[in-house]
Amino acid sequence: SDSITVGELAKRMGVKANELIAELMRQGSMVTINHPLDYESAAILASEFNYEVENVAFDEETILEVEAKKEAEDNAEDLKTRPPVVTIMGHVDHGKTSLLDAIREANVTEGEAGGITQHIGAYDVELDGRKITFLDTPGHEAFTAMRARGAGVTDIVILVVAADDGVMPQTKEAINHSKAAGVPLIVAVNKIDKPEANPERVKQELTEFELVPEEWGGDTIFVEVSAKQQTNLDTLLEMILLQAEVLELQANPNKRAKGSIVEARLDKGRGPVATVLVQDGTLKQGDAIVAGLHFGRVRSMTTATGKQVKEAGPSFPVEVTGLGGVPDAGETFHAVESEKAAKDVSQHRQQKQREIDLAKSSKVSLDQLFAKM
Ligand code: GDP
Ligand code: MG
Repeated sequence: SDSITVGELAKRMGVKANELIAELMRQGSMVTINHPLDYESAAILASEFNYEVENVAFDEETILEVEAKKEAEDNAEDLKTRPPVVTIMGHVDHGKTSLLDAIREANVTEGEAGGITQHIGAYDVELDGRKITFLDTPGHEAFTAMRARGAGVTDIVILVVAADDGVMPQTKEAINHSKAAGVPLIVAVNKIDKPEANPERVKQELTEFELVPEEWGGDTIFVEVSAKQQTNLDTLLEMILLQAEVLELQANPNKRAKGSIVEARLDKGRGPVATVLVQDGTLKQGDAIVAGLHFGRVRSMTTATGKQVKEAGPSFPVEVTGLGGVPDAGETFHAVESEKAAKDVSQHRQQKQREIDLAKSSKVSLDQLFAKM
């Protein structure tokens, strides 16, 4: 048969059928224990419980046999320290872009594709052999979009505050975003080269938000920088690495990759191009992937310095070609066992999306109908 009942799936997973029924109810379907699930539905449902479902073909007729097995727990020896992922936020004109550019320029090693960098939405830098990944997308929107989709990609927020301007509305917004996300924040007091710079006032203003510098008995890291004159940038990187150590960020590079889409677009020559951030596992050239509603095979991977790579491990951002369509920023991607599996999941999601769109449009027409009455 090409389906499995809720009850049978529960049995193979070793969970109570009620748990599956409850999950399906949360997803909006009211079903009984005897309800048949097709392969895609079973696979997606099982994955909610951290199970993988294998799709096994028997004879000429492809018979779908659902074999649910618990996704292997990571062995302790497989867990490796991964670089922190950093987002820079702050009020407009306080120097976010300048700081990102200054850090990047100061850290592009000579010889790396002639030191020419391209904006792919994220880049990584190195300090004494330790790496840091910066998300290079317009701060707040990208951060909120990713969070809204449940993609907690940012480990550390750098709050940029101009020393000649102080705390402004978007400074507060940034503080609220990072607090809501539970992401630690490091303050970069920028533009200290300016004669009218007053870093002490910035510190004073930020105490109102429980951001108190260490020298005043608090535990917030403040670094005084000038993006323009490239002052204290290494200190800022040091502080990020220090904070990262405290967070003990780890991932397992020895498994199939999963992560998030940082940005994506349609390139005239290369087709859909997506910058992905690997959050766990290792992404390899040739891998079958599903990203949001789309699927494909990784044809090429390029770093922010234009280098072609065959593999990307945890926390590494790479620009990927080979998807069949353009996913949305903030959506997740998964490398899967085969292109067939990637296609199945993508088709299932597209079907679901069509149902949602249809439900919306029929609701609209009903509303319009009632509005006319
Ligand atoms: P963003 O809106 O936060 O991305 O800010 P920008 O990076 O675009 O910077 C806004 C303005 O501040 C630009 O004119 C920059 O040249 C200037 N600026 C940024 N950083 C510094 C700095 O450290 N010192 C001085 N004097 N000007 C800066
Ligand atoms: Mg900017």
